[in-house]
Amino acid sequence: MTKTIAILPGDGIGPEIIAEAVKVLETLQHSFGLNVQLEEGFVGGAAIDATGYPLPAETLALVKKADAVLLGAVGGTKWESLEISRRPEKGLLGLRSELELFANLRPAILFSELANASTLKPEVVADLDILIVRELTGGIYFGQPRGIRTLDNGERQGFNTLVYSESEIERIARVAFDSAEKRQKRVCSVDKANVLEATELWREVVTRVSEDYPNVKLSHMYVDNAAMQLVRAPKQFDVIVTTNMFGDILSDLASQLTGSIGMLPSASLDAHNKGMYEPIHGSAPDIAGQNIANPLATILSVAMMLRYSLNETKLADKIEKAVKQVLRDGVRTLDIGKNAVSTSEMGDAVVAALLK
Ligand code: NAD
Repeated sequence: MTKTIAILPGDGIGPEIIAEAVKVLETLQHSFGLNVQLEEGFVGGAAIDATGYPLPAETLALVKKADAVLLGAVGGTKWESLEISRRPEKGLLGLRSELELFANLRPAILFSELANASTLKPEVVADLDILIVRELTGGIYFGQPRGIRTLDNGERQGFNTLVYSESEIERIARVAFDSAEKRQKRVCSVDKANVLEATELWREVVTRVSEDYPNVKLSHMYVDNAAMQLVRAPKQFDVIVTTNMFGDILSDLASQLTGSIGMLPSASLDAHNKGMYEPIHGSAPDIAGQNIANPLATILSVAMMLRYSLNETKLADKIEKAVKQVLRDGVRTLDIGKNAVSTSEMGDAVVAALLK
């Protein structure tokens, strides 16, 4: 059956990097039997310019019927003066909530060919391959009550609520264990169970869920120690599962172990493995329109899409192998090397490696 992929280029470098990912998808269609239909839509600033809204009804209908969504990036200075509810970023948040994407998967992979791009010693990070599974729709970012109130003595007080129900913890834990089964079979659950009751429950539920995965080894770590261990000896981790806020912080930290923001893909999944796939970087307005952005994070996001939403593991492996080959051949965009090739030349190099 033909699957539909919604293609949302967005703003800034979005259209440039998405064009290269589409080249890769079309190569898989024409030469390797991938049965998909690509349908393009507006989101973010591009959608505001076209329709007045960051997430128009037409785009929402498209992503709802699609089997997976591929997003470039949204945002830019042009739209910064708009009222917050009408800014491009609202389009992204709208997509996450409308599609109920509760699981954010962010791999931190360092290809050995790029070990020198990291600020850490090559032996600490070479061949690093961690998957951070972050809960995306709950926890302190959404808990009620929240706000800023004035106390009886006139002093103002800000407050938020960290809240997790058992079902929310269980479903994200299952995503982590399922992912670990396809990897090194180790899950480290990161919490602050010594201080926060919500994460005491987190630890209890994750431990209970682990009983359904006898092949996966579960460990627990407090978040402060996890931050330290990620810098000290990151290769000890396989899959890390954690709350929304801890995941937000740790996944940015982990991404920097790899040196370049232009290399890292991400997936956000719902309960049925439908997902939105995007590079972790933004729309990079400083380099937009110059054909110099690195398209590999977006191309690797396509590999994640094939693996998690389209059940095409072999094709996913093929893309990752092609990217590795291109790096081994010394092909580099400006962010990862000298004598750089353009965005489109990098895309062409990946396509050539796929067809070899
Ligand atoms: P950014 O990730 O866009 O850029 C940070 C730096 O990394 C810039 O110097 C940029 O040139 C560089 N960079 C990013 N992607 C690159 C690539 N593929 N190749 C080479 N270099 C790359 O972050 P920012 O500058 O903080 O934000 C710019 C805009 O993007 C803002 O409007 C922000 O709101 C938006 N944003 C969007 C997303 C998203 O769509 N998911 C995420 C983050 C930021």
